[in-house]
Amino acid sequence: MSSKFTVTNKKAQLHVPSLEEAAKVLEDGLKRNFANVSVSVVDCPDLTQKPFNLASPGICGSERLADIGGPPYLAPVPKKDKVYDLDKVAEAVGLPGAFVIGAGAGPWEVVGVNSELICDVKLDVNGNQDPIKKSYVAKLGDQLSDYKLEKLPNSTQFCLMANLLCSEGKSGKVLEVKASKRTGQENFMSSLRKTLDEHYDDKVVGLGGVFLIESGKATLHIMPDFSDRPLKDGGEVDNWLQYFDMDAPLVCLGELVSRDVNLDLRLEHFHCFSDHGQGGHYHYDTTPDTVSYRGYFTIPDAIYRLDQPEQTNTVMPTTD
Ligand SMILES: [Zn+2]
Repeated sequence: MSSKFTVTNKKAQLHVPSLEEAAKVLEDGLKRNFANVSVSVVDCPDLTQKPFNLASPGICGSERLADIGGPPYLAPVPKKDKVYDLDKVAEAVGLPGAFVIGAGAGPWEVVGVNSELICDVKLDVNGNQDPIKKSYVAKLGDQLSDYKLEKLPNSTQFCLMANLLCSEGKSGKVLEVKASKRTGQENFMSSLRKTLDEHYDDKVVGLGGVFLIESGKATLHIMPDFSDRPLKDGGEVDNWLQYFDMDAPLVCLGELVSRDVNLDLRLEHFHCFSDHGQGGHYHYDTTPDTVSYRGYFTIPDAIYRLDQPEQTNTVMPTTD
């Protein structure tokens, strides 16, 4: 099957505050949800090293976001022909050879079933070298309680939807966000996003990158294989998704935007992996007293909306 997103590609510029300004804004805002917060501008640590083990050392250079497809391609009835390739995404955002990280749905034809994709690929530049493919998929077995995290070394495809940060994968200055002991109700990514939304109002700001849940536990979901019957509303999607409590350390990849820019954007989306066999779609931590987050983020200057569904996200799970 081929990618089908040449017709409806759209792009919106994002507001790009200085890293120093954003650090101050985020530090002030995160204090409403976490007892211990520190946000600073640092050189990006080498992300090819532990505990990240990503495909490229940094998330800098021509940073931009891509929001591809969406939940309407999953429910009520899955559109299994929505198959995309990261090369095409990189082309569409004007960054061939990009380092691409984030959250999406795995390529069902390759994996065998529907799955969560934790995307981590440094694409090839002009055919000079093989892409570095370090993505994972999290999937369920016949028993819905039986999950599995697998490497995806042979494919740069995905299905249905994805929220991705594309960059040149270079080292450079990034935001380092540390937050621990949660005192409020917001999860880590919502706390970041809502802080940006309140401060910057209609100047829409994005963040993309990686965060670690260094201690504590978090609730993650994993999609089962495609449903035989239509999932008619958010409640039915909720019941279909399988939720698990998983243990730190978890490495989470994805992006967020402070608010929609009339493109039916998914506002926040991070998927996690680990080296202890756990991974999936991040919802929230369940251990406020002991949870500890450390993230590295860049501020992209644009978001590309690829293959936007005609229908809006009307059947998303209520917890998403
Ligand atoms: Zn997800």
